[in-house]
Amino acid sequence: MDSRMHLLLLFVVLLACPSVVTGQEARWWKGNTHTHTLWSDGNAAPEQVADWYRKNGYHFLVLSDHNILSTGEKWFPIGEMERSRLTSAGVESLRDRFGEDWLSLREVSGKREMRLKTLDELRAFFELPGEFLFIQGEEITDRWKKKEVHINGLNLTELIEPQHGDSVREVIQRNVDAVVDQGKRTGRPVLAHLNHPNFRKSLTPEDVASIENDRFFEVYNGHRSVLNHGDGEVASTEVIWDVALTLRLTRLQYGLLYGLATDDSHDHHGLKETSTPGRGWIFVRSEKLEPNALIQAMRKGDFYASNGVVLEDFGRTKNSLWLSMKPEPGVTYKTEFIGTRLQEGGVGEIGEIFKVEAGVRAEYRFEGNELYVRARVVSSRPHPNPFATGDMESAWVQPILRSD
Ligand SMILES: [Zn+2]
Ligand SMILES: [Zn+2]
Repeated sequence: MDSRMHLLLLFVVLLACPSVVTGQEARWWKGNTHTHTLWSDGNAAPEQVADWYRKNGYHFLVLSDHNILSTGEKWFPIGEMERSRLTSAGVESLRDRFGEDWLSLREVSGKREMRLKTLDELRAFFELPGEFLFIQGEEITDRWKKKEVHINGLNLTELIEPQHGDSVREVIQRNVDAVVDQGKRTGRPVLAHLNHPNFRKSLTPEDVASIENDRFFEVYNGHRSVLNHGDGEVASTEVIWDVALTLRLTRLQYGLLYGLATDDSHDHHGLKETSTPGRGWIFVRSEKLEPNALIQAMRKGDFYASNGVVLEDFGRTKNSLWLSMKPEPGVTYKTEFIGTRLQEGGVGEIGEIFKVEAGVRAEYRFEGNELYVRARVVSSRPHPNPFATGDMESAWVQPILRSD
């Protein structure tokens, strides 16, 4: 073989195997995109929050405080009341963990204050290539009348103020558009996810379906006031997902809607259990642990939501959706494949369970009339710190369309 032939062969091999080009294989990265700190209404300093996530096996974290980025100078009062979110004892524990030099303290008119660490300072301390990083974000917190509209903007570079509007859907859309527009202007991949639709019974499935220009919502939020399972009055987030998917893929033509699991953690001291860290997260498949790469992977649907079940892998063939679990001793798994069918004159049952399969591998073969199919895995192990009593560890695989 002459050298030109060698080069040609090498070129063909490089084209066939992207991982040969970069020297890296895509792998799963665990992260939480919804957390609060003292920058808004969380009850812990941002470094304490980040420390917990890094020590507990997370690779990325979004500090998504309400209508604020962790930038600039912000001094927080040190109080001694029972309800004080930062106390002298809290400051002492930060001193123990991070050292004397870490703290910035002052006294103004006899009142003690601590300066909150900025994202830049947190990055310098916590980030390690290939191990842990922050994605800058914000929970854009808006409302229409009594309806709460909260949208997380991820990978932002500038603060987005709540955009308001004249209806709940207009408020959703204007805030989503503000995120999308910032992405266009800065040339960075960004993402907007609509949070906890059932918080204060704010959003209907039709509202969730109505998001144009983006496609993400929280199917699981760990804060105990958000009614993930619905009640007699509002549908569960699972049902919301299927109704929204069906509307988006028929009448609205807006395409798929992807589901996230998040903590929405505010309580970081283990005293209250309303919204603790560690309840729900996502795993994103990417070659690199890098904000733009993670967001791009999510935009492609290359991620899944979990509150305990770890998947080995999932994927699709032309005619099927399949997944496999990382088995754990003594734990069994049940996978439900869920979707809606097109039928004469409309659609069939919305969110029909097409198939239930037990075991560590499951596959659904398209029959030909499905609008979409998604998968939910439920394990036999109870969630150790559940959102609601009786919750078992689960995972949610993103919906896919039938490819013709
Ligand atoms: Zn919220
Ligand atoms: Zn929140």
